[in-house]
Amino acid sequence: MVRNNKYAEVYIDIKTFDIDHAFDYRIPTHLSPDINIGKVVRVPFKNRIEIGYIVKTKDKSELEDKEIKDIASIVDVKPFFDSQKLELISWISRYYIQPIGSVFKFFLPPGGKSGRLAGGSAIKFKFKDYITLNEAAYKKIKDKINWKKNYSQKKVVDYLILHGEVSKEKLMKDTGSGNTSITALAEKNIISVIKKRQKRDFRYDYETDRTSKGKKIVLNPYQQQASLSIEEAIDKKIFHKFLIEGVTGSGKTDIYIAACRKVLACGKKAFILTPEISLTPQLFSRFESEFGSRVCVYHSNMNDAERYERWLDIWNGEFDIVIGTRSSIFTPLDRIGIIILDEEHDPSYKEGTWVRYNTQDVAIKLGEILQVPVVMGSATPGLVTRYRAEKEDDFTLLKIPVKAQSTSFPETEVIDLKKTDRLKEDPVITGRLFTAIREELEKDNKVIIFLNRRGYSNFVICNKCGNVPRCPACDLSYNYHSDPKKLVCHHCGREQNYDGKCPVCGADNIFLYGTGIQKVQSKLQMRFKDTPVLRMDSDATVKKKSHQEILKKFISPGGSILIGTQMIAKGLDIEDVTLVGIINCDGMLGLPDYHMNERAYQLITQVSGRAGRKKKKGRVIIQTYNPESSVMESILANDYESFYRQELENRKELGYPPFSNLVNIIISGKDENIVKRDIGELFDRVVEATGNCCSILGPAPAPFHKINLFYRWHIIIKSKNMDFLNEALAEILKRFKKFDENKIIIDVDPVWIL
Ligand code: ADP
Ligand code: ZN
Repeated sequence: MVRNNKYAEVYIDIKTFDIDHAFDYRIPTHLSPDINIGKVVRVPFKNRIEIGYIVKTKDKSELEDKEIKDIASIVDVKPFFDSQKLELISWISRYYIQPIGSVFKFFLPPGGKSGRLAGGSAIKFKFKDYITLNEAAYKKIKDKINWKKNYSQKKVVDYLILHGEVSKEKLMKDTGSGNTSITALAEKNIISVIKKRQKRDFRYDYETDRTSKGKKIVLNPYQQQASLSIEEAIDKKIFHKFLIEGVTGSGKTDIYIAACRKVLACGKKAFILTPEISLTPQLFSRFESEFGSRVCVYHSNMNDAERYERWLDIWNGEFDIVIGTRSSIFTPLDRIGIIILDEEHDPSYKEGTWVRYNTQDVAIKLGEILQVPVVMGSATPGLVTRYRAEKEDDFTLLKIPVKAQSTSFPETEVIDLKKTDRLKEDPVITGRLFTAIREELEKDNKVIIFLNRRGYSNFVICNKCGNVPRCPACDLSYNYHSDPKKLVCHHCGREQNYDGKCPVCGADNIFLYGTGIQKVQSKLQMRFKDTPVLRMDSDATVKKKSHQEILKKFISPGGSILIGTQMIAKGLDIEDVTLVGIINCDGMLGLPDYHMNERAYQLITQVSGRAGRKKKKGRVIIQTYNPESSVMESILANDYESFYRQELENRKELGYPPFSNLVNIIISGKDENIVKRDIGELFDRVVEATGNCCSILGPAPAPFHKINLFYRWHIIIKSKNMDFLNEALAEILKRFKKFDENKIIIDVDPVWIL
């Protein structure tokens, strides 16, 4: 017999920093059989009743018995997490140096505290009555009733015998019976009326890939090889990492599908993670046509109520495959048999707010805890992942060098913007690019134009007084947006109306400097009047389902142009796209961040990969001022390997990851002197605690020195021993007394150091 423990450690659901540990409570004997890890309970706390989560049960408490209070009641019978998820929670807390309380939140139902209780009052569900026949009761009394007199009731009973359970609404409609018959039957206990929650339909309603719908795909030898390795790990029930390095269009999705088929056949479930919402519809429709209603999506574009509902359904075991963006890895899927991350290299896998976790590392940790395989895929793997795949014994690199449906790679052409004649040619859309677009549109093909800059222009300058309007909160020039006309700060989002006149001298001689995606759109629309010119960026996709609508227009038959930011770089698998134009790729290469080569290589390769994915041959035109740079050379040669080797050398020389781990600590606040004082103090503490084992850069102003009224200073710590550094930093931060209003951001393994 299992002995029931007397005490439980309970986390209280309160967002205060000083309540950052579990509290001991006594388990009353009548609750004892139902208490275990992950259960939600009500407990007395500071003269109130609060909600708490059980993280441990134990025999003894260090506290005196009279200091310990009783658990008041259990809220729900089913736990929110188990001991394995709890292990993951403490790992995240430790590795990313964040209070465990803030990590907990990820694992709880979305929608705030009231949402955290099943059926919580914050979320309104729709319910519907469903009717079933109680056969036993019916058999007993059916001969005692005069059915001729109760003809309408008989019709209902006959219908239920034939159709089984049905909604009351449908029953009334189909049989023409009214409420009275149903009530009468219910009173005789012949039927039961049950309330059931109405589920929203979250499915996407469009098709992007008309050709491969329903088509049975036979994996090619490369895909088969990869599948076999993954299936072996699934069979052995072991933790193993895989990196599928497959060129764009190599059919990675079908490998994921094969792996999921295997996992489901073993009675297990799967997580499929994708970096961006814009990629989920396509991925979802491929999975849905294979697995039907066993698949669901979960992403950040769903509102609280939708997410809450979806969370509950996953919790109740209604799905076998969850596809979603980074937060979906925290949904309460049980019996996980595989974790898959598509586009593994993508910086969007990094959470940017409070707990700055990398989804890849969380997934790997979860795989290790559960002893299940973790599969990552990319055409341009992150440097660190690729290096680990090479070095670590439990990590296998699977290369797929060919496209699944096409024998050729797109032809890439570089246009040296230094050589364009500014008087004759528009450097935004050079003559060469313009001709190419026209040629493709004439063949009814589709064109993708890429520029990673939102808005219309970079900044506006008054030709009379030289004034450049700036965001008062960030000290950076405003970007001009044309749709509608306004000035927008791209750092803090502040907006200002703009009537085309200089706010200082009133002149209307304003020059719009630099090129944003809206300017490109209007230029192209002017030159291709009869062609749909669509735009996809974060401004155009604020509204729900707008992604889908833009794509739907783009893929409808005939020539069309889609202009986009990095949002369009990945995943789009559209048959007739034969030309990809990159307006200016230098912006990406000029950033003061050691990641920039990697990002530029990834982004340009991904965008280029949108062209010529099926039978039609694709071409890519890249406009740049730096065609000679080594990154450009690798891109042109389509040679990830050479890029990887070269970049690895650079990193080694500078001791950057993968040859170290970085921790970026930023202090921000409204008074720069106090920010400087705090960061200086922190710097001293870190030096003292880490001695010679880490190198520390700074303190220095962060590259974005001021954002939204806040000054930012940072230090960057390079370490070869993260266990040691995590512990040392946790210790320092626990005792560090910063100025109250300053904020400390801790970014372990940052994906940007800007
Ligand atoms: P990526 O590797 O870029 O993610 P996808 O998985 O989107 O590539 O696959 C590209 C296209 O190739 C899809 O339309 C897919 O249906 C098709 N495809 C994948 N594998 C095969 C195969 N073995 N035979 C034929 N078509 C395939
Ligand atoms: Zn601003």
